[in-house]
Amino acid sequence: MTVSALTPNSLSLIGNTPLVRLAGPSEETGCDIYGKCEFANPGASVKDRAALWIVRDAEEKGLLKPGGTIVEGTAGNTGIGLALVANALGYKTVIVMPETHSREKMDTLRALRAELVLVPAAPFSNPGHFVHTSRRIAEETDGAIWANQFDNIANRRAHIESTAPEIWEQMGHRIDGFTCAAGTGGTIAGTGLGLKSFDENVTIALTDPHGAALYNYYANGELKAEGSSVAEGIGQGRITANLEGAPIDTQFRISDEEGLYWVERLLAEEGLCLGLSSGINVAGAVALARQLGKGSRVATILCDTGFRYLSSLYNPAWLEAKGLPVFPWLKQ
Ligand code: PMP
Repeated sequence: MTVSALTPNSLSLIGNTPLVRLAGPSEETGCDIYGKCEFANPGASVKDRAALWIVRDAEEKGLLKPGGTIVEGTAGNTGIGLALVANALGYKTVIVMPETHSREKMDTLRALRAELVLVPAAPFSNPGHFVHTSRRIAEETDGAIWANQFDNIANRRAHIESTAPEIWEQMGHRIDGFTCAAGTGGTIAGTGLGLKSFDENVTIALTDPHGAALYNYYANGELKAEGSSVAEGIGQGRITANLEGAPIDTQFRISDEEGLYWVERLLAEEGLCLGLSSGINVAGAVALARQLGKGSRVATILCDTGFRYLSSLYNPAWLEAKGLPVFPWLKQ
């Protein structure tokens, strides 16, 4: 399925996002670094694509019937995408979210008609983890499907079939490297597989936050996490079905401070208001460009809008409580 194959209704607003050259990162490296503006999707994040593909896949397989319910456990953005797609197609949504996540995402989900279930933050091994809770609710609800974004490869197909061809065309078929972080892994695996199908020489790099296990896995085969991160939506501790066979050539580990450095610069210098995963991705793109050498052409993902984090990333009290630097213009 391609986005353009859909009838032109509100769902056709998903995808076909702009790609912008990022001046600061490009000048700093002597390369051309581009950001895919996923905050321009109707739900303001990259996860609208996965939501649309997951719902269409369930319809095609006959799993989702008219008036049915879509249940999902999510850091928030997938839920927002699912709620919009569900409203457009006449389904209901039940979204399970850790109660520690951004207030803005919870308010947005309620505003979008989703039924919100908040659970305490817990490790994946705990049966109360938001992913397991969402699966149980789906099993217990008549006419419901579990979107299962982590292990449902309709998620990465969204990026094989839309994100990768869009970047390929927007970069004029000349791209040396692509990098982004992984939550479900759908974006890195799908965009990586798609770009390699056009040019097998494109270097695909994983940008991992602290507190995730994938950096060590791709560096030395060991799923081992070190440190921690406040970034929402990224940081994975296992090889999800979406990550299986992901064509990762190299990997970088990026701290929250490095990510915030780029969030601050992109806002102050380029007027882009982004979330922390975007800043971490840009830090990874800078590292990849340096590795590939001057003149290289690198793309990354600007995953979601900073407006979703006004009470956290853009709130001095919150940043200070986390021991993170406060943007100079927010200091009293
Ligand atoms: N950034 C943000 C803000 C997200 O919500 C997500 C999705 N969890 C990602 C990055 C990572 O995307 P993916 O799930 O495709 O790995």
